[in-house]
Amino acid sequence: MTGPTPEFVELIEVGPRDGLQNEPTVLPTATKVEFIRRAIAAGVRRVEVASFVNPRRVPQMADAEAVLAALPRQPGVHYVGLVLNEKGLERALAAGCTEIGMAVVASDTFNQRNQGATTAESIAHWGQIARRAQAAGVRAQVTVSAAFGCPFEGEVPVERVVEVAERVAEAHPFELAIADTIGVGVPSQVSEIVGRVRERLPGLPLRCHFHNTRNTGLANAYAAIEAGVTRLDASIGGVGGCPFAPAATGNIPTEDLVYLLGRMGIATGTDLEALIDTGRWLEGELGRTVPGALVKAGSFPRASAIA
Ligand code: ZN
Repeated sequence: MTGPTPEFVELIEVGPRDGLQNEPTVLPTATKVEFIRRAIAAGVRRVEVASFVNPRRVPQMADAEAVLAALPRQPGVHYVGLVLNEKGLERALAAGCTEIGMAVVASDTFNQRNQGATTAESIAHWGQIARRAQAAGVRAQVTVSAAFGCPFEGEVPVERVVEVAERVAEAHPFELAIADTIGVGVPSQVSEIVGRVRERLPGLPLRCHFHNTRNTGLANAYAAIEAGVTRLDASIGGVGGCPFAPAATGNIPTEDLVYLLGRMGIATGTDLEALIDTGRWLEGELGRTVPGALVKAGSFPRASAIA
């Protein structure tokens, strides 16, 4: 550890959005709501519940409003809605999201494919979104996507990531996320990128979002913690991906991450057994095995509830 080991790491459950949107099976609204309810019952306090994007492009998220309408409002629980433009923001606010997330892709080609705009245009959209969300009393955060590599342009220079991070930070997000959208990153990159962004944006809380596409997800999560990051995205069962990024599969599994952290003495406020149960339940609902390891192997020691 370059810094002291943190006592607590906050987990953001992204399975209901980033996970399910890449599944060929479209789950019924009631099943999505049950998924979110289970995550919250397991102790998660921030859940990315839906994206408010064009349902023709992402049919898995077409029932975003219905999902939000069925969720009970709970103090301390944030329902995060992903938006990519102002129309999405209007829908997310009307639906009752308590947190808005926006993504700006570090590479122009990917940003164009993902949201039909250049990176610079999306940065401008984000500025409007942040202002309007903040005016509505809803907190807003932003993700710099494809920070570790682009499926179309290849390597993304660290300087480019830092520059995009600085530009989006001008709109005062309460948190900035750095995402390995296609799962190509390695720990040394995490240390470098997090270090460089922290240097330029001291005081702005950072979150990291990893995919386990090339089996480096948990190593990257550890590197992020070592670099001082205490907020991580994960998805129960390790479901996830991006429909516009070829072969981008699998967020880091929430329960695998909780196991790793818990055994290191780092609290997450979650119940590991409940997370594993939910991963197994999700397998039944999706009708296929999920990538997570703990879903198969179980915890150790048996029946220990790691807080
Ligand atoms: Zn993702």
